[in-house]
Amino acid sequence: MDIPSCDMCEHPAAWRRPWDNTLVCIMHFNKSFLKKVQKTINKYQMLKRDDIIAIGLSGGKDSVVLLDVMAKLQKNHSTKLIAISIDEGIENYRENGLHFAKLAAERANVDHHIFSYKEFFGYDLDEALMILGENRLSPCSYCGPFRRKLLNEAARKVGATKLITGHNADDEAQTLLMNVMRGDLLKTLHSNPIPKFKNKAFVNRVKPFRRTTEQEIVVYANLNQIPYQEMSCPHAVEAYRGKIRNILTNLSVDDPGVIFSIINSADSLHDLGGLVSNNLKHDGNKEIFDCKKCGEPTNNDLCNSCRLIIEIENRENM
Ligand code: SF4
Ligand code: ZN
Repeated sequence: MDIPSCDMCEHPAAWRRPWDNTLVCIMHFNKSFLKKVQKTINKYQMLKRDDIIAIGLSGGKDSVVLLDVMAKLQKNHSTKLIAISIDEGIENYRENGLHFAKLAAERANVDHHIFSYKEFFGYDLDEALMILGENRLSPCSYCGPFRRKLLNEAARKVGATKLITGHNADDEAQTLLMNVMRGDLLKTLHSNPIPKFKNKAFVNRVKPFRRTTEQEIVVYANLNQIPYQEMSCPHAVEAYRGKIRNILTNLSVDDPGVIFSIINSADSLHDLGGLVSNNLKHDGNKEIFDCKKCGEPTNNDLCNSCRLIIEIENRENM
């Protein structure tokens, strides 16, 4: 079978971009991939020239590809890149992820630091779930806030001025739709893609893959032979997100640009939120207080993770 050639050169095509049907060879795919990430960073003013960037490196496809791309883009800037991984203490899963995270850090030639729930909170996730027993929330309801908190703490510890994560366009579109369907559209205003939090204890978090689809990330990893963790977390049963994901996958068959349309809607919402924020109770730049227990930035008296740790401690002492 004849392999068609790239629309931009004579080399064999490696991929057909679904939304404009352009055929691209490996070189042109990589070139446009890096260009798109740089454009996204510029569009949302995600990074400054002298930023020290911590990257959340789980070992999954999004984070290892992000590290590879950022290491390449960073060569043109004076920013510094440091990888941080979180060890939740999930048996038969995290060890495997850390293996791929280490490989990725070596490949990109960046410092790599691992922070564990056990060391920071006093409990592994598995241990905490055992203490909490049957009558508890889902594992992700504990793990999510713990990870957010520890990532912030880890980023501060390594001296970072920005924290980047591998959330991609599909994740962002799913989140927006989930907020709409749960009647919580204003939540979208909290996730302003332009970093704005002023609290010193909070390292601003940005997502350079906001306009890069999951499919592009998988193609990048495969074409560049970047190994990543393929195993899913045994606790990952976010059924609602899965349903939204299926809806978007089906819609994308007829309208491959639908993900970008949703992201554009989210952007318009942020613009609108900026215009009317004085009239909104929840605006995109919510007021931040210090948690009464740990001093971390939070919207309430106690941060989420301190509240959950208190729940675990109480259960343990029962
Ligand atoms: Fe944690 Fe849930 Fe993610 Fe597993 S799926 S790592 S429990 S947040
Ligand atoms: Zn706290």
